Amino acid sequence: MKVVKFGGSSLASAEQIEKVYHIVKSDPDRKIVVVSAPGKRTKEDTKVTDALIAYYNAYKKEDDLRSHQDWIIERYQSIFNSLGMSGAVITDIKRNILNLATLDLKNRFTYDTFLAAGENNNALLIAEYFKEQGLNCRYVHPADAGIIVSDIPSNARLLSSSYAKINYLGALDEILVVPGFFGVTEKGDVCTFSRGGSDITGSILAAGVRADGYENFTDVDGIFAAHPGIIKNPHSITELTYREMRELAYSGFSVLHDEALVPAYRANVPLVIKNTNNPDHPGTRIVPKRETKGAPVVGIASSSGFASIYINKYLMNREVGFGRRVLSGLEDLDIRFEHMPTGIDDMSVIVREKYLNKQVEKILVEKLTESLHPDELYVEHDFSIIMLVGEDMKEHAGVAARAARALAVHGISIAMISQGSSEVSLMFILKSKDEKEALRAIYDEFFYEI
Ligand code: ASP
Repeated sequence: MKVVKFGGSSLASAEQIEKVYHIVKSDPDRKIVVVSAPGKRTKEDTKVTDALIAYYNAYKKEDDLRSHQDWIIERYQSIFNSLGMSGAVITDIKRNILNLATLDLKNRFTYDTFLAAGENNNALLIAEYFKEQGLNCRYVHPADAGIIVSDIPSNARLLSSSYAKINYLGALDEILVVPGFFGVTEKGDVCTFSRGGSDITGSILAAGVRADGYENFTDVDGIFAAHPGIIKNPHSITELTYREMRELAYSGFSVLHDEALVPAYRANVPLVIKNTNNPDHPGTRIVPKRETKGAPVVGIASSSGFASIYINKYLMNREVGFGRRVLSGLEDLDIRFEHMPTGIDDMSVIVREKYLNKQVEKILVEKLTESLHPDELYVEHDFSIIMLVGEDMKEHAGVAARAARALAVHGISIAMISQGSSEVSLMFILKSKDEKEALRAIYDEFFYEI
């Protein structure tokens, strides 16, 4: 059996939901259906989840709520009408949306309850629609599905004991429609994962029932070898390992929530990224181990927003505890580090710029200067990383040389290079102004066919 998850763009309108219905019906293995909230119908549209945030803010500020409530209810009502539905579910949905404005604002989980209403009401609607179409189907609330999570609002983590609770779903006869994005705490409060978290729900359920596959339906034909916004018509990838996907997701590929990989990976469930608008396309399979051997590089990702803390001290390598003092300085300010390329007498600590505002940066420099007595210490901004990913890189000589030559031909200077000993990825750090050109140069080197 398979778990299938549909994202917001796959559920934004009646037309999309009809496609989803045909996809579910066409394969009897598709037994658990995880749904997001209705997404955008056009570029300018608002996602229901964002409308719920606005509704919550208005409630908190004691503003007029009518326009917020009407807009959200109308989203469901118009889908209901266009699907030609007749049941009482729309009355329940209306009541659910209005009732949000009776919740206690002092409760830590009220915000999450507003947000989760997007998926919850969508699951009610879709389960009802499937039933009206004659499918043997039912809605299951995450509490009944056994998705019990830690009590950190908007950043839930699954309790590992939940997997045993979820397992029974696999034995049920009906098609189950489960809202994505949230679980409940041990006390029964609604608690959401971080944004985009319906992917996580799907992965958790696939792991919990030991599914044969987890199909994640979105609006692209799978994963491309590079960002289609930068590279024209990039190659699509047929198969990736979880490790490759993790590396690509880290450095800018955002098809899937990065926390969604872990549950399916640990349970050995293959994941497929598929397109609701083109369901016959095989999509991209993400597997624990790739059978096909081949090219050294399967994908190239890039991402901006990095800063480098540069530290230089003569005879640094002879000082015991130097690295520890650098990292404790960061830890004291709650800054996580991403990479640490080193020389003999210098090192750079790469951090994400979002954790380093002007004030934090000033304190950090003062603290590190005091504890390290460096010859030089400064922070440089506006770095990007370019990441070449491929499990088979280790079987090939000259990958770094080819990439570096491609950059040299374009006159792009490399600030730092880093490669972990696993050789799954090779990273170039360079100034953000060169990011797009660098990506194109490296893509052409590895993927351009004459
Ligand atoms: N609706 C939620 C969001 O917009 C979760 C999801 O779509 O996965 O973040």
